[in-house]
Amino acid sequence: MITGRNVLLGIVLSIFVGFSLYSILDSTPASSKQRNIGKQSEDIVEIDPWITEVIPAGGSLYGIMENNGIPLREIATITYQFGDYIDVSTIQPGDTLKIRLSDDRQKIEAMTFVQEPTVRHQFKVQGDSLVYIQEKLPTRMETKLITGNLEGTLSESLASKGLPNSDVQQIINALESKIDFRRRAKSEDEYQILADLRYFEGKLISGGKILYVQYKGKSTGTHELFRYEDPNPKSVLTGLYGPEGKIVRSSSGGGVGYPLAHIHVRSKFGRRIDPVYGNWAMHQGVDYKASHGTPVMAVANGTVTEAHYAGGWGNQIRIKHPSGLITQYAHLSSIGVKRGQSVKKGQIIGRVGSTGKSTGPHLHFGLMKNGQWIDPSNLKMVASEELTVIQLKDFNIQKEAILTKLRSFLSPPTVSSHP
Ligand SMILES: [Zn+2]
Repeated sequence: MITGRNVLLGIVLSIFVGFSLYSILDSTPASSKQRNIGKQSEDIVEIDPWITEVIPAGGSLYGIMENNGIPLREIATITYQFGDYIDVSTIQPGDTLKIRLSDDRQKIEAMTFVQEPTVRHQFKVQGDSLVYIQEKLPTRMETKLITGNLEGTLSESLASKGLPNSDVQQIINALESKIDFRRRAKSEDEYQILADLRYFEGKLISGGKILYVQYKGKSTGTHELFRYEDPNPKSVLTGLYGPEGKIVRSSSGGGVGYPLAHIHVRSKFGRRIDPVYGNWAMHQGVDYKASHGTPVMAVANGTVTEAHYAGGWGNQIRIKHPSGLITQYAHLSSIGVKRGQSVKKGQIIGRVGSTGKSTGPHLHFGLMKNGQWIDPSNLKMVASEELTVIQLKDFNIQKEAILTKLRSFLSPPTVSSHP
């Protein structure tokens, strides 16, 4: 467990202009300023103390810190607490991380994480804790109906309407599970999209909501998708659904993946000679060969139920999936998620290591059903994600509201003239 996590100062400042963040942070008690002693010396050297890095495709915050030579222990401490403030499942390539290091480059003093132009997550390290301030710049939402005919690919057509890439991708992913675009899409096909669009300084930015999608083609037939928004803001269920509330997901979004990019089984589930004690014992999972530091990924969407050091398991993560099954990732060198956090399939949750009862770096991967360890080769069972009866009711209410909105766009009420 990391100490000092309880000293958390979460301040949300909407629009703050005109004064520097650090003038606020420096008004904290003198006792927490020890590390700054001697910093305000006479000569001011014109060096930008901030390292600015954009997360590359396939990269991570962890990787950026590692590449800058920050000690692993420091990275683990910081990234662990980071999850208290940032939904790490939303971190993606293109996000920017700024880090300010101590003079000996052993400690992180402050960080700013910019995920989108309108939000700045600012951190300052005090003792063992992160002090967090969020700066939010105002955006404007507007509901619009976007219609058109296919010109080139659907992705090109939608991008030409100014839709942000993330929205385009969401629409394509959902439709691809229903339509074979390569073979069936024709240039006269029609699309209709109702969306709450998000504007920042007059420009369309991501973070809008796609409410409704209709795609109509001679050879594709007509397909409709409706947004379902789960009341839990972290729910992985929020997204586009067919008219009956059936989940539509492309292969990239749903199903079950593997915990490592390359899979080499070292030891299977079942009875075996214990590698540490030499006696016969039950092996409660699968061991995959992997070198120290290899990224470990969640195999399916779910919620982290355990993320801590646990005796023989060493650093261990457990994830509960919507099906009720639990997956386990053990002997990790580092843990990148925290308890209660939602994770998505393929998200990096930690790194391979050899902590706990282990003879060398590997990943122990376990699968639990109703409190029993079962053979992880039954993995397919993890995937099923369906709306519950209550959620389905909620979906239908939301669908009606969307249809009402849609009708108001399709047949705008005539302005009645005064009698
Ligand atoms: Zn094992």
